[in-house]
Parts: sequence; structure tokens; C-alpha cells
Amino acid sequence: MLIVDAHLDLSMNALEWNRDLRIPVSVIRDRENGLTDKLDRGKGMVSLPGLRKGNIGLVVATQIARYVAPGNSLPGWHSPEQAWAQTQGQLAWYKAMEEIGEMTMIRNREELERHVDLWMKADVSSLHKPIGYILSLEGADSLVELSYVERAYGYGLRAIGPAHYGPGRYAPGTGATGPFSRQGLELLKEMQRMSMILDITHLTDEAFWQAIDLYQGPIWASHHNCRALVSHQRQLTDEQIKALIDRDAVIGGVLDAWMLSEDWVRGSSDPLAAGVSLGRLVDHYDHICQLAGNSRHIAIGSDLDGMFGKEQSPYDMETIADLSGLEGILRQRGYEPGDIANVLHGNWLRYLTAVLS
Ligand SMILES: [Zn+2]
Repeated sequence: MLIVDAHLDLSMNALEWNRDLRIPVSVIRDRENGLTDKLDRGKGMVSLPGLRKGNIGLVVATQIARYVAPGNSLPGWHSPEQAWAQTQGQLAWYKAMEEIGEMTMIRNREELERHVDLWMKADVSSLHKPIGYILSLEGADSLVELSYVERAYGYGLRAIGPAHYGPGRYAPGTGATGPFSRQGLELLKEMQRMSMILDITHLTDEAFWQAIDLYQGPIWASHHNCRALVSHQRQLTDEQIKALIDRDAVIGGVLDAWMLSEDWVRGSSDPLAAGVSLGRLVDHYDHICQLAGNSRHIAIGSDLDGMFGKEQSPYDMETIADLSGLEGILRQRGYEPGDIANVLHGNWLRYLTAVLS
């Protein structure tokens, strides 16, 4: 069954981790043997062949670059212009993948329909199918000023998450508190003018409710789980989930182990010992389905290459290809075929068909 994953940081891995994503995950891991500069060296989960192996034919792929003011200890660039340049390098990598037929950008409904057709048709399974990607910006710091929104829309950007971690030029993110900045409120207006998707993942609670009140364009939560099951501000409260359901939003379930397990201790817990399996995500799905009364708002936003690897992923996954195992787990948990299709691709496709003009 076709799988859609609404959150991967592919180009960040290509450029900042120096991973050649054209090759199998196992080969990328081998090549990182002995490297210690990143916590997940030799443990990567994602590559383009891995996506194909799992029948993951469509992803939301990010550009991501943070601005850090003096005194901010998070990794990031010292000016918005440098952050912008970083995102343009990331765009260049996606374009290079397009040139060799590895990926294809999805900007509108026609491209979406054509691409889904290609992946759904069984008789072309032997072809080297390109991975479709919808371009999203995780953290808006790199937009030097508001005119950059239209410029970015012009090259294919369709979604923006204003915040990431810590302080942000437009909105504070995970680990911080407070509302959108004045500039951030202007960003929302400009995004609305362009009918861009607002990704509420990583917003503070205050900014989340501002976004719900002020933003009239499409909203989604690209990679987000439930606070009722794992209590952290990075997760959605039931009230937030209900507000998203009211907006007909879709929530991408994330597979970073700490967001799946209440007792996870970062840097020391082990997925197997902590019992973090792929099925843990279904607990979060169940919770959202109970609040919604249906399965129309749950989907996948794995984040499996988001600065972590196998050390912080469900123990029953070797690579991202194992997302395909979700189908059997959902069946065991009593999901009907239509509900399973909703989770694996139907909800994202319905949503994207409605919002991409
Ligand atoms: Zn994220």
C-alpha cells in the first residue's frame, strides 16, 4: 500500500550529515563507521532506496536553518541571510535529485494526481519511481523578510512551520514560551495571502491558539503526538487536537522514541528496553480517533531523519522501509481496511488534494 510520510529532513541529512541518500541505508551506515561528530552516526534510518522499498512514494521534505542571536546556545546561523543561503543549498540538493530522476517536486493538484497514479499502478512497480516531495520550511527564521514568502512560494514551497526549537524570529518554538512576534503575525497574513499550509508543529501553546484564532488558510500538524499519553509541551493537548479536528486538519504521528514513551530518558534509554515499538504510535492514533470519532485526522509524519537514528526509533524498525509494517499492526489493532488506508496515505492525499490548487 502506498505510504505518505509528512515529515523528513532529507536535504539537511544530505548536506549537514554528508549522507548520499541515493544509496541504501546500510551502505550509508557503513561509511559513517568511526565518525562521532553526530549522535546518530552509523545509525541513519532513511535513504531514497529505503523509501522505495517501503512503498513510501510521497513525502513532505523540509528546508531547515535556524538563526541564533548572540547568547543563544542552540546550533544555527548568525544572520538570517546565512540561514536563507543554507536553505537555498538544500533546495539545490532536491533539484539535483530531480535532475537524475530520484525525486520529483509536487506543487499543485495535477502534479499530485499524476504522481499518485504512477505509484498506485501495480504494473509499473519495476520502474525506478521518483519519490514525490512537497517542500516545507521547518522554522521560518531563514525568511529574511516577508517578501521572501512569495519568492519561496515561487520555487515550490507550500508549507511553513514558523517555529522550531527555542527562540525564533517569527515565533518561539519547543522549549520556549510566548506568542508570535509582531513579525510572526505579519508572516501569518502573508502565508494566508499565498494560501500556504501552516504547520503548527513546534509552536508554543500560546502561539498555537493564536494560529487557530488568526489563520484562515490550511493548517496541519506535520509531526506530532498526544500530550495525554506522553506529557511534554512538544505534544498536543486534547483541546488542541479537538481544535485541529474542527479545522479538518491532519496530524502526522512522529516516531522519535521520546515522543512515544513517557519514561524515555534522552541519551540513555534504549528502544527495546523501553518497549518502544511501532505499535506505540497506534496508541496515539487511537487517542486521536476517540476524540474525532473517526480515522480522518491521523497519518504519518515520521521525522525518522530528524537528528536521530536507530538509537531513538522503534526497536522493530531497521530502516524507514519498515513503516510498511504499520499496515499489519493496524489490522491487528482492529482498524478496518478503509481506516488503514486513511492512515497510510488517504488522509494526507485528501488534505493535499483540497489545499493544493
Ligand atoms: Zn521537527
